[in-house]
Amino acid sequence: MQYYKDVKIGKSDVTSTPLGLGTNAVGGYNLFPNLNDDTGVEVVKTALDNGIKLLDTAYVYGLGHSEELIGKAIKDYDRSKFVIATKGAHDFSSGHEVINNDPAFLTKQVDESLKRLGTDYIDIYYIHFPDDKTPKAEAVGALQKLREQGKIRAIGVSNFSLDQIKEANADGYVDIVEDQYSLLHQDDMAEMMPYLKENNISFVPYFPLASGLLTGKYDKTATFPKDDIRSSMDDFKEPRFSKALEAIDKVRGIASNHNATVSQVILAWYMKNPDISVVIPGAKKVDQVLVNSRAMEIPLPDKEYQAIDDAFSYFKVAKK
Ligand code: NAP
Repeated sequence: MQYYKDVKIGKSDVTSTPLGLGTNAVGGYNLFPNLNDDTGVEVVKTALDNGIKLLDTAYVYGLGHSEELIGKAIKDYDRSKFVIATKGAHDFSSGHEVINNDPAFLTKQVDESLKRLGTDYIDIYYIHFPDDKTPKAEAVGALQKLREQGKIRAIGVSNFSLDQIKEANADGYVDIVEDQYSLLHQDDMAEMMPYLKENNISFVPYFPLASGLLTGKYDKTATFPKDDIRSSMDDFKEPRFSKALEAIDKVRGIASNHNATVSQVILAWYMKNPDISVVIPGAKKVDQVLVNSRAMEIPLPDKEYQAIDDAFSYFKVAKK
């Protein structure tokens, strides 16, 4: 039974389970090697079949392919029972990657995402990254027009600094912010949280499992191929890697108190955290989704919540 309550997204009428599915590995062939489309579709269906209501995707995951696979997966599901979050800003029209927040470009991106997803509305649309030329309130204004047309239901920004969020939210239209945050990156949102709360803006952390590290499955011998984004991540380099492994060892006892896995109690920690709206772990395998979905059933007592928090205290100040 779902223990953690559904959440409302910002000032919109979008609601979700506090656990979503991150889908950068569903069709995200430009980010991860050896992905399989059929598995990607099954991963999405497994999430929906096991009570997960939010699917987090983006144009840039496979340059539209993640959205296409989600479109394929959701065909037989009641569209009113789950929410789709997608993102746009990557413009390849010049032959190389440019971040573009121009209102006309974002409007076109939304129409193209709708087609790929095979749906007539997007529940949450994020500007994926800020560009350095478009006034932020103008970019968000374009999304507000799309909301008025019924094409999107909630407006988000991702990878924006606090000042950029304030500029984007000048007219009060922003409902949600998605940014990197995890037990290994706790400092990243501390600065923006008071503003988000005052303005009723929800927060979604990305890389919540630190790309698998916080599942407890790695030891010091872990290595990754060059075309896997983890090969260049600081979390998998010293001294952060050893400090993370030490902290994870402290969580193992808490996991066994619940007959749970490390990933399940870590995900429960995010769901209990009042600053967090929806946690969106990614998955490459159906079994991972099944395991992660069960985290919604694990009531984490205050004492264990605090013990997990304490285990990761090394990561509370910026240490890269
Ligand atoms: P993550 O959630 O921190 O880690 C997910 C990875 O951990 C999976 O792909 C899988 O990788 C492993 N894993 C997941 N559950 C597991 C389990 N139960 N047992 C063992 N391993 C497990 O990282 P992420 O998927 O990169 O990030 C989450 C989501 O955030 C993305 O999917 C995407 O939707 C979003 N995101 C957004 C932005 C942005 O700019 N807005 C940036 C990055 C990500 P392996 O099987 O390879 O170990």
